[in-house]
Amino acid sequence: MSALPEAYGAALERAMVHATNWLASVPTRSVRPQSDADQVAASILPRLPDEPADAAAVVDELAALAEPGLMAIQSGRFYGWVMGGTLPAAMAADWLVSAWDQNAGLRFATPAAAAIEESAADWLLDLLHLPATSDVGFTTGATTANFVGLAAGRQHLMDEAGWDLEGLGLSGAPRITVFAGRERHAAVDLALRYLGLGTCVPVDADREGRILPDALDDAMGEQPGPAIVCLQAGNLHSGAFDPMADSIGVARDRGAWVHVDGAFGLWAAASPKLRERLAGVELADSWATDAHKTLNVPYDCGLAIVARPEAMRRAFSVHTSYLIATDAGPGDPFEKVPEMSRRARGIPVWAALRQLGRNGVIDMVERLAENARALADGLSSIPGVEVLNDVVFTQVSVSFGSDERTRRITQRLMAEGAVWMSGSSWQGRNILRISVSNWSTDDADVAASVEAVRRAVEQEPEA
Ligand SMILES: *Cc1c(COP(=O)(O)O)cnc(C)c1O
Repeated sequence: MSALPEAYGAALERAMVHATNWLASVPTRSVRPQSDADQVAASILPRLPDEPADAAAVVDELAALAEPGLMAIQSGRFYGWVMGGTLPAAMAADWLVSAWDQNAGLRFATPAAAAIEESAADWLLDLLHLPATSDVGFTTGATTANFVGLAAGRQHLMDEAGWDLEGLGLSGAPRITVFAGRERHAAVDLALRYLGLGTCVPVDADREGRILPDALDDAMGEQPGPAIVCLQAGNLHSGAFDPMADSIGVARDRGAWVHVDGAFGLWAAASPKLRERLAGVELADSWATDAHKTLNVPYDCGLAIVARPEAMRRAFSVHTSYLIATDAGPGDPFEKVPEMSRRARGIPVWAALRQLGRNGVIDMVERLAENARALADGLSSIPGVEVLNDVVFTQVSVSFGSDERTRRITQRLMAEGAVWMSGSSWQGRNILRISVSNWSTDDADVAASVEAVRRAVEQEPEA
C-alpha cells in the first residue's frame, strides 16, 4: 500500500499557505503584474533537472517564481475583459475536484460528479428561467459553449434537411447560413470556423450594438434556406442585449435555429429588475454562458444549454447509431461536450450557487450592475470624461476626447496599477472599457477606481 496521505500532505499544506498569502495580498497589491512573461521565464530553470524533487519544495519554488507575474484578477478593482473573481466555496470546491480526480464523463463511473453537476444544471435553468428540460454541458468556457450550441443547431438543421451529417460530413451538404449582429463577439466567429459553417452574415445594429430585427428580417429574406440566428445577451462594450422577443420572432418565421451568446449577460435573467431587458430569451433553442465570468467560479467553466436534447446528443454522442428514447433521462455528461475525459468542473458551480442561494445570485448580479452605474456616474463627474454607452448592465465604455489622449490615459492608468481596465476600440473610437465582474467589488473599490481615473486624467493634459 502506498502512503497516500503522506505523499500529498506536505505539498497541500504548502499550497494552502501560498494561496492564503496570495489572497491576503490582493486587496493592497498592485492589480497589474510586476514582471512580464519573459522576465518570469528567465527565473525558471532552463533545463528540466534529471533528478526528482520533493513535492512540497516544488510548490514553494512554483509560488516564488509565479508571484511577480500574477495579475490580481481576484481584486475588486480588476475590470478587465469581463473576467470574474472566485467565490470562496467555489475555489475550495475546485481544490476538492482535483483531490477527488473524477473523470466526469460517465454517469455510472463517477456518480457523485454526475449527480452534483445535474443538480447545478437544474438550479441554473431555474435561476435563469430557461426550459427545465434543456440539456446542460459543462464546457471550458463560452467559446466552447457557443460551439456546442451551434453544433446542436447544425445537427438539427441537417436532420431536418434529411442530410446524413455524421456519415457524409459537410461536403455537398445543404448550405446553412448564419446570421448575427455586427457587434457579435469574436468567439462566435471562432465557433463557426470550427464547425465549418464559414463566416456569418453580419446584420446591422443600433448605436448600443443591438441587432435590428428589421435588418435581420431583410437579411434572411435575401438568403433563404436553412439558417441559424445567433443573438447576443450582453455586448462587450455597452452591455446591451439584442431585442430577444422580436429577433426570435423573425427567426422563427423563417424556421431558423436560434442560439444566444450570453457569456456574461445571460445572468441578467436571474434578476427580477434586469430580466425584462432580455425578455423572450427563453424562446431560443440554445444558449452559451460562462460560469467563470459573472458567477465567479474558477477557470475553466462555461455552460452550453440546449433546449432540444436529441440534437445535442446526436451531435456529441459517440454511439454511432445512437437514438434517443422518448424518455431520454439525464444522459451521460460526455454526450453534452466535445471532451470525452474532463474534470468535474460543474462541482464549483454547485458550490457557488449553494453558497449564494437564490437571493445571493440575484444580489450579486444586481450589485455588479449597480457598481457599473456608480462607476459611470463617478467618471462622468470628471472633466473631459465621456461615458459612451447607455449603462444597462456591467459594461462602461469611456472616452477622454481624442483617440490619442484616451490611449495615453489608459496606459497611465495601467502603469499605476491601482485598477485594471481594458483599452479597446468601439464604433471607430479608442475607448477605455470597464467590466464589473467581481463579486467582491465594493463601494470603496468603486470610489478608489474613480479616483485612479481622475489622477490619470489630471496628469494627461488635453492636447
Ligand atoms: C468572454 C466572451 C466569450 C468567450 O468566452 P470564453 O469563456 O472566454 O471562451 C464569448 N462571448 C462573449 C459575449 C464574451 O464576453
